[in-house]
Amino acid sequence: MAVVITEDCISCNACEAECPNNAIYGPGVSYIYGTEERPALNDEHTYIVPDKCTECIGFYDDPQCIPACPTEAIIADPERVETKEQLMAKKETLDKVGR
Ligand code: SF4
Ligand code: SF4
Repeated sequence: MAVVITEDCISCNACEAECPNNAIYGPGVSYIYGTEERPALNDEHTYIVPDKCTECIGFYDDPQCIPACPTEAIIADPERVETKEQLMAKKETLDKVGR
């Protein structure tokens, strides 16, 4: 499943540099998907783009952002349960379209 940032986030951006998929953006910052720029998904705190989060599958064994967070604000998103195969397919799509 993708991971999600909760309201415990203080927008320190420590997690952003850890993401191999460029899936983490600051509050109000528009995000990039392939060659497209899309509107921010959250204006209140740092957010993760679900379509770009592979739980780090294809790069690392575990999500790299979770241990980087000082407020434990990053959790598995129960509304976005995905298998390893689905996460790998997402990674391969990003390989093609860009991050
Ligand atoms: S789990 Fe990995 S891919 Fe997903 S947002 Fe965190 S660092 Fe990025
Ligand atoms: S490391 Fe934690 S507190 Fe800092 S921006 Fe990321 S989710 Fe927010």
